Amino acid sequence: MATVKVEKMEVLPVKREHYSLIIGGKRVESVSGETYTTYNPATGEAVATVAQASIEDAERAVQAARQAFDNGKWKRSPAGKRARVLNKIASIMRGRFNELVELEVLDSGKTISAAQGQVMQAIEDFEFYAGAIVGHRGNVNSMPGQFFNYTQKEPVGVCAQIIPWNYPLMMAAWKIAPALAAGCSVVLKPASLTPLTAIVLTEICHEAGVPEGVVNVLPGSGSKIGNYLVEHPKVDKVAFTGSTPIGKDIMAKASQTLKRVTLELGGKSPSLIFEDADIEAAVNGSLFGIFYNTGQSCEARSRIYIHESIYERFIEKFVEKTKQLKLGNTLDAGTHVGAIISKDQLETIDSYVQSAIEDGATILAGGKPADVEGYEKGYWYEPTIIADVNHSMKAVKEEIFGPVAVVMKFKDEKEVIGLANDSEYGLASAIWTKDHARATRVANEIKSGIVMINTPFSAFPGTPFGGYKQSGFGRELSIETLDLYSETKSVLSYFGAKPLNPFGL
Ligand code: NAP
Ligand code: MG
Repeated sequence: MATVKVEKMEVLPVKREHYSLIIGGKRVESVSGETYTTYNPATGEAVATVAQASIEDAERAVQAARQAFDNGKWKRSPAGKRARVLNKIASIMRGRFNELVELEVLDSGKTISAAQGQVMQAIEDFEFYAGAIVGHRGNVNSMPGQFFNYTQKEPVGVCAQIIPWNYPLMMAAWKIAPALAAGCSVVLKPASLTPLTAIVLTEICHEAGVPEGVVNVLPGSGSKIGNYLVEHPKVDKVAFTGSTPIGKDIMAKASQTLKRVTLELGGKSPSLIFEDADIEAAVNGSLFGIFYNTGQSCEARSRIYIHESIYERFIEKFVEKTKQLKLGNTLDAGTHVGAIISKDQLETIDSYVQSAIEDGATILAGGKPADVEGYEKGYWYEPTIIADVNHSMKAVKEEIFGPVAVVMKFKDEKEVIGLANDSEYGLASAIWTKDHARATRVANEIKSGIVMINTPFSAFPGTPFGGYKQSGFGRELSIETLDLYSETKSVLSYFGAKPLNPFGL
């Protein structure tokens, strides 16, 4: 029997000078020949050049993904085999853990400690879905008489996945792992500012045995490539993580072809700190809740409500610890807060802080771009706390996406639930109290997809992640995500001896 020799992609070092597109299982340059340079936001230094995908490349990638899906090689492989490949991806990533962490730090300006956690979670996502897919199955439903019905889960098809710059590798894993597990094909568009680790992850997918065309990656402009994918009739699903305005635009455009849509959007998440909270734990949790990842987190707890009886004590400690946060060398494990992703983002953050000052707020810490010795060419902002605010202020209503917290007092449970829910967003919320009954009561009343009780951590592989209201819809990181990458087919059959003749003719 003749065998077809599949050319394997050469394994290159994780960190290198140039990164290509990956289409149909091959590293390719853009049809236009265009490339661009990515920079380290902490230092302003160039990291690498990247092929810049054009519309023609997007078309090639969709065709490759379509062909790979329709030929059935991946989608029809047994779930156990797909699980094996996902575990292999995880194991290759484990072997290159430090290299992936370093590349993530350089490309995004985040701290090494943040990158370590995120790369580890990306690995665990593949392991989680390797386990989950084996148990993902349909049902047998009870039927009248001599009918038999079963349902089966089938992969939804070609998925366009568009991700932001704040968690470049982790977001790629949140998207690729469930899609691959379910048997889908993928065209991934990383954020223009941080494409490198998503490209390396796509290479690792091939090394682990994902067939050609099943995962394609297109670094390129969101407004061009992203838009093209969203409108493409051969794309079946769009999974998007990013800002709420772009999410709305994507939903409108995807509706033209009734694509399946998952949206993980912005947030303005509250922390509720009750009078009986462990103050030290609440301060440390709130510090992490807002300054982790330099506040560039959709689930950043950027509104902090503190019971009036402990307000002064909480604020004193919170301000003191905020001033101790270290900025600087992102490759040093002792650095707490990394750089801001870009000059534009730095200016946006500062304009929010200035607007709060103009609205009469008081700055308790930070409040301006940071001078970080040795990192003058990077983008840095001081960890900032703003008091004397109210819900009519822009800095309290809108997502800042930077290291900026607003703090407010409350009198009782009913009032703080009202304040917490007074937002167009509903991604996450944190409750700090020792009273279990209260924690449960408040968790029931809060309109957010994620509630944290006495913990700063919002998610682990297996916990559903997603929003209420304008924070989007659909859940990632969990068993239910597999349903969002699947169609349910209902198969109904008749096994009676007498043939059916409903018209009686
Ligand atoms: P963004 O501007 O919405 O960009 C996100 C992605 O969409 C990028 O890949 C971008 O490409 C692409 N894009 C831009 N315009 C597009 C268009 N017209 N059609 C299709 N794709 C398009 O968001 P961002 O500024 O990069 O990220 C920050 C936002 O993401 C924040 O609002 C944050 O809350 C949200 N976020 C949410 C979650 C969550 O899980 N809920 C997680 C992380 C971030 P380019 O890079 O080329 O512009
Ligand atoms: Mg953007």
